[in-house]
Amino acid sequence: MNASAIKNSTELLPRRPRDKCGIFAVYGHEEAAKLTYFGLYALQHRGQESAGIVTSDGKNVREHKAMGLVPEVFDEEILNKLEGNMALGHVRYSTTGSSALVNAQPFRIQYAGESLSIAHNGNLVNAHIIRADLEKRGSIFQTTMDSEVVLHLMARNLESGLKQAMAKTMAQVQGAYSLVIMTEDTMIAARDPNGFRPLCLGKLGSGYVLASETCALDLVEAEYIRDIAPGEILIINQNGLRSISSGVKSRKSQCIFELIYFARPDSNIFGQNVYVFRKRQGELLADEFPRDVDLVMPFPDSGNYAAIGYAHASKIPLEMGVIRNHYIGRTFIQPSQSMRDFGVKVKLNPVKELLKDKRVLIIEDSIIRGTTARTRIKTLRKIGAREVHMLVSCPPHRFPCHYGIDFSTRGELIASEKSVEKIREFTGLDSLGYLSINNLVKATNIPREDLCLACFNGEYPVDIEEGASKYCLG
Ligand code: SF4
Repeated sequence: MNASAIKNSTELLPRRPRDKCGIFAVYGHEEAAKLTYFGLYALQHRGQESAGIVTSDGKNVREHKAMGLVPEVFDEEILNKLEGNMALGHVRYSTTGSSALVNAQPFRIQYAGESLSIAHNGNLVNAHIIRADLEKRGSIFQTTMDSEVVLHLMARNLESGLKQAMAKTMAQVQGAYSLVIMTEDTMIAARDPNGFRPLCLGKLGSGYVLASETCALDLVEAEYIRDIAPGEILIINQNGLRSISSGVKSRKSQCIFELIYFARPDSNIFGQNVYVFRKRQGELLADEFPRDVDLVMPFPDSGNYAAIGYAHASKIPLEMGVIRNHYIGRTFIQPSQSMRDFGVKVKLNPVKELLKDKRVLIIEDSIIRGTTARTRIKTLRKIGAREVHMLVSCPPHRFPCHYGIDFSTRGELIASEKSVEKIREFTGLDSLGYLSINNLVKATNIPREDLCLACFNGEYPVDIEEGASKYCLG
């Protein structure tokens, strides 16, 4: 087979927004590396480019990271070599810095005899400015990741102690970060003052676990204790837990897109269960947009829970009208030009017998570019669906995200240029509706002022520094 005919499946499959990363860390457990492996497995949906684990036994630090999925990166032999009762793990999708092994995390530096490793989820909006300043003062960077800036700032302030070094670092960096830093004997967890990305603490025997989402705690049977608070610095070492405030003030602005799309439905984030939130979105959609149709269906898996909510509230039957192929590998042969819709169809195939001559209502969680929806709707018409309607469980995405979600230019967003009616026309639907921002907020039970809604309303909670972009660091 011609090697050039093999392409990474992400080039062919429908383009969906992608998040930056998942973090999992263990303190005080003799099987720290293996637990971290399972934790990362549970967080694989947050990043599929690379995975890594760094461990420490109090003196020696070991690490392994590579490009690929968690089970591709680690095996039993590798995990056995990662000795120690502390482990820090990371799965990555790049939002700052290119997709390359050098940018895989955890990222580690040795400074004045101290080992510092970082696992970071989010996106700093002023990393390029801080980096330019540090380089002028002699710092040498190894990667193009914004996360490396955090470690350099930490290292420069280490003489005042870890706690102060973290607080001083947080006073300088701006944007979205949930992160964990590990030394030979201490873990430091921190969340930006806005609380954009989730991070929680769990207890496992006499040890502790930190994770991006609670579904990872469930897998290793750790007991959920609490979320790391926005602006909090939590230190875990042989003296137990110590929490301090970074002293940096900002309004809370938790990313609503984590609830809408990124987090796993079996996770609780920002004090909400994700499944319950998405079902509620569907119920509110039914309230806002009653439709006279024969059946409700999602495009799995994205619309599943809102579709359940719509069907529940409207009493219209719910059907799984398209079936998802769960066994798509990371690579497959590139289809020829004449088969260019293959990339979309390989993932979802409609059940003709269910949909022929029916008035169908599709529930989706978002429309980003509109091209995937258009292809799927064309397929439904081809197999004989009489009417095809769509409701989206959030408002139109009109503005890019600068805080760690991968739709960073307006050109990538169909709703930034087209009205709802024009999107309906483009996608070939009989009708199209979007949940209002008021109902979206209502579905959360979180006060509106504590949420980031910038990709819907353009009100960015942290100013964007000029020059910030995915590749602005090299
Ligand atoms: S702009 Fe949108 S995706 Fe980005 S942090 Fe805010 S709510 Fe989340």
